[in-house]
Amino acid sequence: MTTPTPSAERPPPAAHSLLAAALRYAANGWPVFLLGRSKRPVALCATCETARRDKTPHDPQACACLTCHGFYAATTDPNRLTAMVAAVPRGLLAIRTGSPSGLVAVDVDTGHGGMASLRDLIAQGVTPPTRYVRTGSGGLHLYYRHPGRPVPCDQSTRLGPGIDVRADGGYVVAPPSRHPVTGIPYLWADEGAPVMDMAPALVAACVAEIRRPAPVRPAGQPMTPRSGGAISHPDLLMSALVARIRSAPDGRRRVTLYGCARGAALIVAAGHLTSTDAYDALVSACDAAGWPWAKSTPNAIRDGFAAEGVTL
Ligand SMILES: [Zn+2]
Ligand SMILES: [Zn+2]
Repeated sequence: MTTPTPSAERPPPAAHSLLAAALRYAANGWPVFLLGRSKRPVALCATCETARRDKTPHDPQACACLTCHGFYAATTDPNRLTAMVAAVPRGLLAIRTGSPSGLVAVDVDTGHGGMASLRDLIAQGVTPPTRYVRTGSGGLHLYYRHPGRPVPCDQSTRLGPGIDVRADGGYVVAPPSRHPVTGIPYLWADEGAPVMDMAPALVAACVAEIRRPAPVRPAGQPMTPRSGGAISHPDLLMSALVARIRSAPDGRRRVTLYGCARGAALIVAAGHLTSTDAYDALVSACDAAGWPWAKSTPNAIRDGFAAEGVTL
């Protein structure tokens, strides 16, 4: 038997397991940091707060403070992590997503129809099985490998109601943190399961820069939750693609058309449109936008389709 440590010197068990998990994640190459108990970032120190208030140039990534600037404080350095857990022993452990960790997390929120959306995404092959966490609010975080090109965080409903994407410039709360409201811990469903690559359809949906038009509702009528995701509304998605082509600046035409073709290919792959109809719709959108006909136009569309495995 070991001699019990005097309680004044003994770290709370939660801090102990937080640190163990933080070091484990760091060993995976995942930078981690701590949020406050309420799931909000730890307050800035006086110096950083003054810089923020006075709008003094101050690079959060280069800042040497231990806990300032939210996910910018994330680190894989065991010494800094040990000091961080000591400074915020009752905080929530979080993993920085995006290229620093090589992770993209699909956040499924049960409160907003996320599970129904996830069933659609699984049926469409958009979210293959991978390592995941059951969150303290009853949702899920599906962990995927970052594809190596910028993936923005997304809180629109492009992947369906209740589905967010945490990627570059974001983070996820990680086990063994407890949800501040429910008190339920975040848990790995199977921490040994591999983190899989993102399906091409998921990459395309995350980088397509497609925004669904805001729902139109008569004044005074309550908003009702809508079912299905972006691919369940091919007409809306298609009109969003056309709108993007129309508003693309001159120098970005080919890249915009390519991105739109990839988005349209997802609609084709989901069986809502034939590839010929999608091709015609994209060409008509270019015409309607007043683009002069260019040899690169059909190639950009074909390349976009091919990237999603769709042939004309
Ligand atoms: Zn600071
Ligand atoms: Zn700072």
